[in-house]
Amino acid sequence: MKGSIRLFKIFGISINIHITFFLLLLLVIPGGIKWVFLVVGVFFFVTIHELCHSLMAKRFGITVREITLLPIGGVSSMTKMPEKPSQEFLISIAGPLSNIVIIVIFFYPLRYLLGPSALLQYPLSTETWPLTIAYLYWLNLMLAFFNLIPAFPMDGGRVLRAILAARLGYQKATRIAVGFGHAFALLFAYFGIIRLNIILIIIAVFIYTAASGEETQVDVKETLKKFRVRDILPRDFVSLGSSTTLAKVLELVFHSHQEDFPIVDGKSLAGFVTRQDIMQGIHQYGMEKQVGEVMRKVFPKVKDTDSLVKVQAIMHEKGMRALPVMRDDEVIGIVTIEDIGRVYALASQRG
Ligand SMILES: [Zn+2]
Repeated sequence: MKGSIRLFKIFGISINIHITFFLLLLLVIPGGIKWVFLVVGVFFFVTIHELCHSLMAKRFGITVREITLLPIGGVSSMTKMPEKPSQEFLISIAGPLSNIVIIVIFFYPLRYLLGPSALLQYPLSTETWPLTIAYLYWLNLMLAFFNLIPAFPMDGGRVLRAILAARLGYQKATRIAVGFGHAFALLFAYFGIIRLNIILIIIAVFIYTAASGEETQVDVKETLKKFRVRDILPRDFVSLGSSTTLAKVLELVFHSHQEDFPIVDGKSLAGFVTRQDIMQGIHQYGMEKQVGEVMRKVFPKVKDTDSLVKVQAIMHEKGMRALPVMRDDEVIGIVTIEDIGRVYALASQRG
């Protein structure tokens, strides 16, 4: 995520901290060392919470590249979404559950160490160190409950979708969960405004837009599921020999609708260049360089029988905007992110 600093790496996941966290620290510093302790403590527990989501995701073969800690919680970036509702349920519940486990484990030890009156004092305060530690302890409970609110895409909302999806299917379940997300966002915004609570307003905006974003994502996925590469494959395409100069390639980019090219050696596919590869090659080596010397030799391919969902997932995961399409061992075309976008735009208009 932009504007974040990498702290450390654990279980292969980078833990990043967003700069807004330092702003929060600056805000609480005038309140004294106990407030700083509280903020750092909360971030420690948010990290554990997010790690539990990630470790559960890992069990289902979903890789988590990084966790970014924001003042309002953490965001895990997963390479793909869980496929089965039961997986989403377990991944989503793992985070809040970790906070509840912490509450259960530390209750008696803290009651013994701090004394029952300090641990159970209400309202929470930072007057003394025992009270501050009790404050931090109870923040775990708030973290668990807040995240379990069914405001999709927060954890509780994902749990709700998973339960609904098992009966209603993914798309319908998402629609209902997004409705909950929007309703809670409006509720948070209302309380944020009448209580002048800026954090609550930020959370409301975040939930509203994130819920809408996920709804679009699911709609796209469900629409693209219905199509295979061969249904949308452009009829003609240009492939290049490896000795073609970059000047010639650039001319082809201008005169055809194609911006990415397979490089063939006889009939077999030897390489692939994207628009960026061509531009970068020209910038680095000049117009007379041969395309065979700047082409990618390792790149993903798709089959004409693959579904567009699969193609889109590969493009997303590998950061490619175009892929060569194969039938048996022969390249038969190019599929681009624009082709997929066009299909989605047309199909969703019709439906
Ligand atoms: Zn969570």
